[in-house]
Amino acid sequence: MKLIVGNWKLNPSTLNEAVALTSGVNYAIKAEDFERTVLLPPFIFLEELVKKFKQIAWGAQDVFWEARGAYTGEVSLAMLKDVGIGWVLVGHSERRRIFGESDEDVNKKIKAALAQDFNVIAAVGELQRGDEADEIIDSFKKSAAGLETADLARLTVAYEPVWAISTTPGAQADSPARSNQIIGELKHAAFKMFGEPSKKIKFLYGGSVTSENALKFLSQPYIDGALVGGASLSAEEFAAIVSVSR
Ligand code: PEP
Repeated sequence: MKLIVGNWKLNPSTLNEAVALTSGVNYAIKAEDFERTVLLPPFIFLEELVKKFKQIAWGAQDVFWEARGAYTGEVSLAMLKDVGIGWVLVGHSERRRIFGESDEDVNKKIKAALAQDFNVIAAVGELQRGDEADEIIDSFKKSAAGLETADLARLTVAYEPVWAISTTPGAQADSPARSNQIIGELKHAAFKMFGEPSKKIKFLYGGSVTSENALKFLSQPYIDGALVGGASLSAEEFAAIVSVSR
């Protein structure tokens, strides 16, 4: 069963548009596919969307590891839980690149969210095409250091080469064979860290996934799903990605 995650990023601008987009997805996706589909809208829309669309698995695009205190602008796990959120994305390349998050920050977020029973999607990926696979593995190891093996079934790792993300100038999707190979190496590194329980971690590919290329990625043996950015802003396109991956 392939997991498909839609990351809306800083879109859309109004709650009405967010509701319209969700209505479209809700209409276009088959009932049995909701359990493997996660949507990540901006924080501000979460509460209303959860109330209106209970059948959808909603997640936040980020979270802070502290529970409360002097952290202006941050959102805690307890706040997310209070409005019914069960998923959280951490370590997206835009958080790392634009907002300066380190592997150590990402590690704190993953630990805090898993400890609070969230399903966590942790993103890793290299900046430039041609960067060494070792760097990706190293970033994954630092981000996942010290996790409890009992929590790994709630961990999803998204491999997202930054050069393949559609908003990067000149972006092109990775080749399915290469992303499959990197994900294979990540799975191997996870096995060395955690042993048998690492097999419960799901690994997604992200980077210019569309309804046209989705099947090529999702039919690779190591790829357990997709993290979709731009294409998740069209209900038809996103639903088509979900349906090809059934
Ligand atoms: C992303 O930024 O997580 C992403 C995968 O974006 P896109 O699908 O637009 O490349």
